[in-house]
Amino acid sequence: MMNKNGMVTNIHTRIRTDPFTGNYELLGRELGRGKFAVVKKCVDKATGKEHAAKFLRKRRKGEDCRMDILNEIAVLESAKTNPYVVALHEVYETNSDIILVLECAAGGEIFNQCVADNDEAFTEKDVIRLAKQILTGVACLHRNNIVHLDLKPQNVLLTSAVPLGDIRIVDFGLSRRMDSVSEVREILGTPEYVAPEILNYEPISTATDMWSIGVLTYVMLTGQSPFQGDNKQETYLNVSQVNVDYSQDAFEGISSLAIDFIKTLLLKNPRKRATAEGCLNHPWLNGLTDPQTHPHLLPCSLPSLDEPETSQSESEPESPA
Ligand code: ADP
Ligand code: MG
Repeated sequence: MMNKNGMVTNIHTRIRTDPFTGNYELLGRELGRGKFAVVKKCVDKATGKEHAAKFLRKRRKGEDCRMDILNEIAVLESAKTNPYVVALHEVYETNSDIILVLECAAGGEIFNQCVADNDEAFTEKDVIRLAKQILTGVACLHRNNIVHLDLKPQNVLLTSAVPLGDIRIVDFGLSRRMDSVSEVREILGTPEYVAPEILNYEPISTATDMWSIGVLTYVMLTGQSPFQGDNKQETYLNVSQVNVDYSQDAFEGISSLAIDFIKTLLLKNPRKRATAEGCLNHPWLNGLTDPQTHPHLLPCSLPSLDEPETSQSESEPESPA
């Protein structure tokens, strides 16, 4: 089932209605929060394994958002063989929330290392490795006609911070299926990271994610958000004019190949932007550091979202064991 906005709401995961706290112990520490979700660390009482529990409120601003949450679950399911997308373990439902039990990305947001002081900030070599992983993950999504639409440093996590681990892409709350592409126009992400076509209410495509990856790479390398203005309006103007600082000052000690890479993405015309596959072949990512790795050749065969299986969009009561 897919609605006109590219949301998919047929899910395969059984939604459990037995108490979440019967099976998991919540550890007090909050891992993070966004607009409508709180994410907390929890431990599976049976296995002792740590997970991240994302509590999503079903009602937001007086509106029923269950369909949005089912869409998020469906996208996570469709990406379960994608090595760089966070794994979905289980789903619970209470009166007020739907709880996604996710793989815990213990290293936190790459955001923290983007704004960190010099000794903790990423080196260009780090960024090359992480960018390859992000692109491999996103290429995999795009091959399956999924666009993320909210790629930013708060939604790209690390399996560990020290030593620097691997990427896990999270937060598919705005993600859409692109098959019936035309009418996906109304979604707004975060101004600093959204492409000009979103601000202009033009059609969205996989190229929209590629813009965000350009911004993300810029931030990871320089610690500066390229379009951020003093207010929202100024930011919007910077985005729509593609007003970017590529000066030596901003890119001190960073290779010109890196700048060239970003320039293939921060292009106003979405059709001119590099694709994820194309990016993986860019010389910046294929330099002298590990030439033996070809992350884009990783297997990635994802099941189609349309595959008829035991589809489920309604919660079922848990049958007692
Ligand atoms: P929202 O849709 O509200 O933005 P997110 O899925 O982005 O929710 O989660 C909010 C924050 O919680 C993230 O920015 C991140 O800091 C943290 N977080 C989310 N998922 C995980 C996870 N699997 N492991 C660790 N931290 C997470
Ligand atoms: Mg988020």
